[in-house]
Amino acid sequence: MAPAAPQAFRPRPAVAAGAFDTRNRLHKEKTLPTLPDTKQKGLVFNIQKYSVHDGPGIRTIIFLKGCSLRCDWCSNPESQALHRQLAYNPQKCLGVDACKRCLDVCPHKAISVGEDRKVVVDFTRCDNCLQCAEACPADALNVYGYEVSVEQALARVEEDDIFYSRSGGGLTLSGGEPLYQSEFALALLREARKRRINTCIETCGNVPWEVLKEAGRYLDSVFYDVKSADSARHARVTGTGNERILENLRKLREAYPGLAITVRTPVIPGVNDDEASIGAIADFVCTLPGATYELLAYHRMGTPKYGYIGRTYPLEGVGNLPEGRIEELRAVAKARAECCQAAN
Ligand code: SF4
Ligand code: SF4
Repeated sequence: MAPAAPQAFRPRPAVAAGAFDTRNRLHKEKTLPTLPDTKQKGLVFNIQKYSVHDGPGIRTIIFLKGCSLRCDWCSNPESQALHRQLAYNPQKCLGVDACKRCLDVCPHKAISVGEDRKVVVDFTRCDNCLQCAEACPADALNVYGYEVSVEQALARVEEDDIFYSRSGGGLTLSGGEPLYQSEFALALLREARKRRINTCIETCGNVPWEVLKEAGRYLDSVFYDVKSADSARHARVTGTGNERILENLRKLREAYPGLAITVRTPVIPGVNDDEASIGAIADFVCTLPGATYELLAYHRMGTPKYGYIGRTYPLEGVGNLPEGRIEELRAVAKARAECCQAAN
């Protein structure tokens, strides 16, 4: 018997524009589940308790991974990539005469023995499989980034309810850029607001306006970074121009007149530590009714972390601001406007 002829392919009939196509319903329900806020998950790299510098009162800060800027002075370089990543601190390595576990497990031969008999990681070969970190008994090899749900994160935050009620504190989202993981961040803020937790974010403002606008509905206060009023210079030191950042800040002020907004400028030697730069930002802040302005002095506290993740600190060799310089620049800012407030 001759084999049956293959059935001709018949396209499914088209669905009239605007009609509900039931053929895709199951598929959509399976692939695009709408999670309740508490089940949303995100990638964080630290949850820090008892902070008193990042919003009113005593606060818990959740640091989220991911950022669209690449500021040369970033003190949290482990925050920038939106994935879990390997970190190696050679000071903790036991030495290969006592332990060789990482050498044995690395599938990419990214680990070798250095002159001091400790291991050396070649990050250009590493693909962040993280097997070596799992094997390391001394935490010399470690991981930046872990997944948490909104419920898990807020459980940590709520452990300190008693401090918040006495001090006016609460939750601060930081990073990285906390709104970079927009769904998770918004779910966190919504749920925190539902639970009457005071909320604050530290943002670089380089996010879609719709995300910032939605966040504004659930926020009590915002720290908003403006690094330079000059877009070309901003692009040179962060990788991105400042147009969206300034526009978002204007819109945020207009949309939420009651929101406490503090504009912050990290003052970086050779970038914005001159009167004209600070004066230009202060002038912009003065166009935002009720906003306050703070200057933060450059520091180098994050530099060891660059080495841990196989990077070189972009501002190597740049020293601190000269003694008294930050006070001079605060005076410049204050002279521009009554609204300007010096940071402590
Ligand atoms: S994380 Fe990198 S260095 Fe470690 S085992 Fe995987 S590939 Fe090797
Ligand atoms: S597993 Fe850890 S302690 Fe052992 S050699 Fe590797 S880095 Fe050092």
